[in-house]
Amino acid sequence: MIELHTPAEIDEMRAAGKFVARVLQETAAASAVGVNLLTIDKIARDLTKSAGALSTYVDYHPSFGGSPFGHYICTSVNDAALHGLPHDYVLRDGDMLSLDFAASVDGWVADSALTLIVGTPREEDLRLIDTAERALEAGIEAAHSGSRMGDVSAAIGSVARADGLTVNLEFGGHGVGRTMHGDPHVPNDGRAHRGWPLRSGLVFAIEPWFMLGTDRIYTDIDGWTLRSQDGSRAAHVEHTIAITPDGPLVLTARS
Ligand code: MG
Repeated sequence: MIELHTPAEIDEMRAAGKFVARVLQETAAASAVGVNLLTIDKIARDLTKSAGALSTYVDYHPSFGGSPFGHYICTSVNDAALHGLPHDYVLRDGDMLSLDFAASVDGWVADSALTLIVGTPREEDLRLIDTAERALEAGIEAAHSGSRMGDVSAAIGSVARADGLTVNLEFGGHGVGRTMHGDPHVPNDGRAHRGWPLRSGLVFAIEPWFMLGTDRIYTDIDGWTLRSQDGSRAAHVEHTIAITPDGPLVLTARS
């Protein structure tokens, strides 16, 4: 079921968006050579608890997860594309790290992700992150009342394809509201002028994620982390947006 939210509800969602943005900023700032992924998870946990927010990850146990997630943030390193389970790993110079965080504040969820390079970046890694960020911007720009979900998907996919990347359609964006995942699904590629008509009040996450050499993934033995089949690196970025009469409102915008 697709829910449309009132302007007052969207106003209430701003607190969750701001909180998620702040946690991503603080965990990104802490991500450096020599830092353990479990330390980053602890920062997310401490911020969640001290804000009185609720984690939407800790007890999360969907059909594709090997067990309840048990952590507060996804930390995907290098060939890990999505759902990176925090574990005892110390970040090294040049690692590509994506942080994906969602939480519930005052009953509303927000979900957002970013990708960064720890220490010295490689040119091809910066290009991959740049492609994902431009795809996210293109998707947001296409998300307005009167367009269709296919316009958002096509905008994302065309940025990837223009940069020679292929797109995995198994995981994409999703409706966000009282819960973390709802309808509609937001594929990272598609056909313009097709799919759900977009209307004011629709709130959803747009999350392009691309791998440098493939669009195929496999699940790590940890039961959660999704890795590129060819070992190439992956970048993942995400914002939760609301469609308003004035256009898309990025609830998880970072200052
Ligand atoms: Mg997310």
